[in-house]
Amino acid sequence: MRVVVTGGAGFLGSHLCERLVARGDEVVALDNFVTGDPANVAHLADSPRFELRDVDVTRDVTVEGAVDLVLHFASPASPVDYLQLPIETLEVGSIGTMRALSLARGKRARFVLASTSEVYGDPEVHPQPETYWGNVNPVGPRGVYDEAKRFAEAMTLAHRSTHGISTGIVRIFNTFGPRMRPNDGRAIPNFIRQSLAGEPVTVAGDGSQTRSICFVDDLVAGILALADSEHAGPVNIGNPHEISMLALAEWVIELTGSSSTVNFIPRPVDDPTVRQPDTTLAQELLGWAPEVDIETALLRTIDWFRTETETAHFPEPPLGARETAHILTGS
Ligand code: NAD
Ligand code: UDP
Repeated sequence: MRVVVTGGAGFLGSHLCERLVARGDEVVALDNFVTGDPANVAHLADSPRFELRDVDVTRDVTVEGAVDLVLHFASPASPVDYLQLPIETLEVGSIGTMRALSLARGKRARFVLASTSEVYGDPEVHPQPETYWGNVNPVGPRGVYDEAKRFAEAMTLAHRSTHGISTGIVRIFNTFGPRMRPNDGRAIPNFIRQSLAGEPVTVAGDGSQTRSICFVDDLVAGILALADSEHAGPVNIGNPHEISMLALAEWVIELTGSSSTVNFIPRPVDDPTVRQPDTTLAQELLGWAPEVDIETALLRTIDWFRTETETAHFPEPPLGARETAHILTGS
């Protein structure tokens, strides 16, 4: 297959590119590097089946020749990133999605949208099945991301019904692993980076809010299972392993052998209280279930962060606790 991956130099996009090239597909990755990094796919550069292009998908998604599959993954994803890039996030979720859909339509390719558990907002149904409509604040700070993805889902289905495109929607739950930016502001990179540096680990609120965390290898397997099928979705892909943020912080401190203490910081506005995927549909439709044990996955991610910190690949200074709190709480 010839596959176009938007956001291909990002965390998830780079893992998708790697897996596609390894199985023999040809990949064209499109990225403007706003939150990604060419270094994430540098190891693929020598492959004749891989190409990285510097493209803003809100402006242009022209790809010559045949395309069989479009994986639309371009979008800031970390709350700290999308709260600093609100208009860009809305644009890539709306205009970028429309352009990527047009590419798929013109090539008669299958299209898969990277949607998110954030479409469920602060959920009143727990765990969340795909049939739940969600509880999103459209005018809260997170609305720029949540509503962009909800629009993108609606636009994807409209193209399916109007133009007959084969489309799939994957609702991705919190995923972690190597190649997350240590300073992207998300909980796991923050906890690992702070623990390795022996700094206080920043836990928002009292840390009782939960997330369900999935290792990237499992996620990629689920996404490709959906991409290789004809299913429209939306399908939740995530690991139902639910944990409070305080327990996660303490676990990371223990796994890194750190002497870090916990520093409680203000809770972000509209921060969801709980989140856990109901993965029944993924199991029934795709035969998919996560396989990697979370402790093993955390240790593999910690190893990667340790190496990256030593080689100092990331020149961008991490945000301090006060600056992060300012972005997330607006105060
Ligand atoms: P990321 O920030 O590492 O990757 C996003 C990539 O998109 C980056 O390389 C960025 O430079 C690129 N990009 C952004 N705007 C662009 C534009 N206008 N043109 C071209 N490229 C652009 O984030 P990620 O965690 O890899 O997330 C990838 C996708 O998966 C996103 O769509 C995100 O919403 C979705 N998602 C991720 C998670 C998660 O836990 N990682 C959860 C839910 C949904
Ligand atoms: N969080 C935290 N400390 C941090 C960063 C995040 O306690 O340094 C919390 C955040 O408030 C949220 C949870 O961890 O309750 C997950 O945040 P993340 O940004 O990883 O993902 P999302 O909110 O998008 O699910």
